[in-house]
Amino acid sequence: MDTRLMELLVCPICKGPLQHDHDRHELVCAADRLAYPIRDGIAVMLEAEARSLDPAAAPTADRPPAS
Ligand SMILES: [Zn+2]
Repeated sequence: MDTRLMELLVCPICKGPLQHDHDRHELVCAADRLAYPIRDGIAVMLEAEARSLDPAAAPTADRPPAS
């Protein structure tokens, strides 16, 4: 991913800097405990798409319904 572009990316919620998790392909906001996905090399800077880093948070769309 283009590092020049990465420098421009900030958290849409708190406007703070994001950390690039190269292994998970995510941009992490430590302040909000959210990880924004990078899909096809494009960061998805949407709170609705972000993954919570809080271990107490309920699992989301990654898991199929438990019926
Ligand atoms: Zn933030």
